[in-house]
Amino acid sequence: MSKINPDLERVLLTQEEISLRVAELAQQISEDYRQNGNLYLVGILKGAFIFLADLVRELTIPHTVDFMALSSYGNSATSSGAVRILMDLRAPIENRDILLVEDIVDTGQTISYLHKTLQGRRPRSLKSCVLVQKEGDVSHEPIDYLGFTIPNVWVVGYGLDYAETYRTLPYLAELKRSVYTKDAS
Ligand code: 5GP
Repeated sequence: MSKINPDLERVLLTQEEISLRVAELAQQISEDYRQNGNLYLVGILKGAFIFLADLVRELTIPHTVDFMALSSYGNSATSSGAVRILMDLRAPIENRDILLVEDIVDTGQTISYLHKTLQGRRPRSLKSCVLVQKEGDVSHEPIDYLGFTIPNVWVVGYGLDYAETYRTLPYLAELKRSVYTKDAS
């Protein structure tokens, strides 16, 4: 990597590291669901769209993709609000094997909300696949497939944004604190 954007502190996960791990996750998921019918993957917009796109193309089992969009932190990298559904799934999930695909787990509030909401729709099974989890207290349902654990900093790239910027960087990087504290003041 020759030049890194000056807003970024450092690269945490390179494109190669992510791609290898995504392939491993897809292989594990394919093995685990081999005997089941169709796997219904639920990607959480917008952050998980790149992770999901790479993951599904490595799967070797029949699958369907759908999306949900939730309310986000807006432009703030520091405060969290109540979770709300902005866009729901296209179809009922009753009796289906559901795999929730999330970009990142921080406090666990979002994934807990999703678990509770989707469980109420009576799927046959419900598991989660998360690219990165931040270090810290874990007070949510265990993540079934986890890509990486990262330090508790604001990260961007590989689908993750700050104020709709940096989302399409091919790697995952730590955003400089000065970038988001400047906006908050
Ligand atoms: P939680 O509910 O676990 O605290 O936060 C989950 C959601 O917050 C993620 O789906 C993501 O939208 C957002 N989020 C948390 N940490 C980060 C981060 O470091 N970078 C970005 N871009 N989004 C984050």
